[in-house]
Amino acid sequence: MRIEEQIRLDFKDVLIRPKRSTLKSRVEVNLEREFTFKYSEQTWKGVPIVAANMDHTGTFAMANVLAKHKLMVAMDKFIQHDEWEANFKACAELNQFVFATTGIGEHDLQALDKAIKNLNVNFICVDVANGYTQRFVDVVKMLRDKYPSKTIMAGNVVTAEMTEELIMSGADIVKVGIGPGSVCTTRKMTGVGYPQLSAVIECADAAHGLRGLLCSDGGCVVPGDVAKAFAAGADFVMLGGMLAGHDECSGEIIEKDGQKYKRFYGMSSAEAMIKHRGQVDNYRASEGKSVDIPYKGHVETTVLDILGGLRSTCTYVGAAQLKELSKRTTFIRVTQQLNEVFSPFQALNANTR
Ligand code: 5GP
Repeated sequence: MRIEEQIRLDFKDVLIRPKRSTLKSRVEVNLEREFTFKYSEQTWKGVPIVAANMDHTGTFAMANVLAKHKLMVAMDKFIQHDEWEANFKACAELNQFVFATTGIGEHDLQALDKAIKNLNVNFICVDVANGYTQRFVDVVKMLRDKYPSKTIMAGNVVTAEMTEELIMSGADIVKVGIGPGSVCTTRKMTGVGYPQLSAVIECADAAHGLRGLLCSDGGCVVPGDVAKAFAAGADFVMLGGMLAGHDECSGEIIEKDGQKYKRFYGMSSAEAMIKHRGQVDNYRASEGKSVDIPYKGHVETTVLDILGGLRSTCTYVGAAQLKELSKRTTFIRVTQQLNEVFSPFQALNANTR
């Protein structure tokens, strides 16, 4: 056993220090980024925010709205092929803004293959809760060999050495985040996790050193958190809870005590397991929870709110483009860890020494 003493930080532990700026208005800020991916060599231009590949947020209704603003959606892997076909037929442009999600099981990989062969899907998201297994790395390598021109995002991991391993195995983008999700209970159930801001800072450095990219996944609860993730070095930011509760999410509106809600559950929750597997296998514990989110209406309002917040952050630090945000950021720490608090008892001891 070993203890790492260095303090790691979450979004809530920092604020971004304002800087002198020559920008006249937030209208001048460009939130679009252009990337040429390391392996696929595809060039993509858009606003690098991605709706999470969860049942509620990874829908085509979401993709149709987000694509208008050049944001992306990682599709829920349970969406059937017919639905893919119908949506791609209606709007071929969607292919620039959606990831097809796969796990590492045979059934998932076959569904992915069908989507790629029949619909020429460009972006793949290989998503597992624990990106530290050899099987996961092997699947990323296999997918890279099989689909050399497709852009692959793979995760989740939270450490620099595993970020490097995934990029060297063929991932263009590494997805980072274990435990920060709004409906995730991994930290409680397993004790495993990593504060998200530090995970992004450490993994972005590793990814960029190999010409790879990073997607910060989970833990954003307000637009300022999205800005902090980009400022920490994320190239993409994935959002679940912030985009949940809208018309474009799957599920009905629920009425309780005169208030409207929409259901939102974690993909490892008992509710998701029962829905997709028919049961909670007795060797697994649920690592997600279900919540009823106050109904938020159309997602476009929330998207504009997030983009407005991000533009304002850029204005505060003088970044004319989102690309410049991390270079122009100084974070200030605003919280103390419990063991750092100077207690009256310590003060008493210091005075009597
Ligand atoms: P949020 O934006 O809601 O904070 O986080 C979204 C992310 O939480 C997802 O993209 C995914 O990585 C993670 N997530 C979704 N469902 C679950 C779950 O049931 N358990 C865990 N541990 N993480 C989840």
